[in-house]
Amino acid sequence: MDVHGDPSPLTFNEGDTAPKIYQDDCTQCMMCVRACPLDAIIPSGTKKRKETKHLTKKDPEDGYVPYEVSEDWEDFSEADTIFARVHNDSEFKNYQQNEWHGADAMISKNIPGYGKFEHDMSSAGWTLYDSRRNINPKKTDFTKPDPSSSDIKDKSPTLTRDIKRAARFYGASHVGVAKIDRRWLYSSNREREEYNIPETINRVIVMAVEMDYEGIATSPAFTSAANTALGYSQMAFIEIELSALIRKLGYSAIPCGNDMSLSVPQAVDAGLGMIGRHGILITKKYGPRVRIAKVLTDMPIHADRPDKKFCESVTRFCEVCEKCATTCPSQSIPYGKTLTWKGETRSNIPGVKKWYVNPETCYNFWVENGSECSNCIRSCPYNKKNNFFHRIIVWVTKNFSWMDRIIIKMDDLMGYGKQKDPQKYLDSIEKQ
Ligand code: SF4
Ligand code: SF4
Repeated sequence: MDVHGDPSPLTFNEGDTAPKIYQDDCTQCMMCVRACPLDAIIPSGTKKRKETKHLTKKDPEDGYVPYEVSEDWEDFSEADTIFARVHNDSEFKNYQQNEWHGADAMISKNIPGYGKFEHDMSSAGWTLYDSRRNINPKKTDFTKPDPSSSDIKDKSPTLTRDIKRAARFYGASHVGVAKIDRRWLYSSNREREEYNIPETINRVIVMAVEMDYEGIATSPAFTSAANTALGYSQMAFIEIELSALIRKLGYSAIPCGNDMSLSVPQAVDAGLGMIGRHGILITKKYGPRVRIAKVLTDMPIHADRPDKKFCESVTRFCEVCEKCATTCPSQSIPYGKTLTWKGETRSNIPGVKKWYVNPETCYNFWVENGSECSNCIRSCPYNKKNNFFHRIIVWVTKNFSWMDRIIIKMDDLMGYGKQKDPQKYLDSIEKQ
């Protein structure tokens, strides 16, 4: 009985063989659950956890990869990427010029979307990404589990599902797992110090983070760059949180963004999508309008596989669509059907058959523009809001390649891919 004389939510009267539970009066204090030595009481509204068949799936064995890698593939250092060369290559045209170098000149021109406020909103958006190494102080050894975690490793058969759920919970829009192909690990960091990622770290969890459709549509204005920056900081948040969880579960987990390994091929391996003509990952739901976060781990989780039909359809579609090449302000994206084995600059990683974008001329435009550009993302026909109509079009491209040219024509006629008014975008934020 409670203080009002009503029966307790759980009542055991003389002669009863089991307690009577009044679910409507239960406050989920869980005292009875903790007290029962047989674990016989299940709180109201919950069901016993069930294992389902798909949780025990095997890793893909057919070995399908939707790209060709040359036999004389050589390891690549992060020090040769364009962003590192800004600081270490005095021969590079934009040596010691960061992407905001031209911002003041652009601000002085009073062009919509190029205001000081938008610039500062963009540069502030990078704060979490740029400070993530401070959040994870150097003394943290990510190749080891969290020392405060229990010695018992979580070996639940639901681990793959659970970790993907956690990634979504922390904010990922899309999650996949791949076995680590060590060719995609950078041999050294921007200072040419070896990474030395142990062989036991054999899985990568790849997470796509969707960027705002309307914001990216304002590219190359600062308002679009602000969305890029936000995407990077969201990556940092997700990869740090997920790594912390994995290390608590008793495994190693190395959070990484664009560092440590090549994001696009790992995302392809993890079944997130396919590389496009513009060199960016194209996902089914959001097209190229994503950023990619990763966690390298030794957790025994199952790998996904690329969707062969989708990957092949993307390459076919890109062969006839050149919208990214046309709208690129620096003309850094190649035209034509021919895939090559190497690009024109030191920052192009040779040995993969693909369209090679020129990162030097691309970066030079960013410097002149005073911020990152996303015209190639904005104009790509795969970049649509994730709705029923878009999913139908993706399905059509997968199954009826003869429709590709018609779809591209329709895309143009409907005005997709054109720059949207940055001021209207800013005004719309208040109404969201
Ligand atoms: S980011 Fe802009 S400049 Fe660079 S390749 Fe894409 S469209 Fe061209
Ligand atoms: S814009 Fe066209 S060619 Fe470029 S990546 Fe997208 S689909 Fe391919």
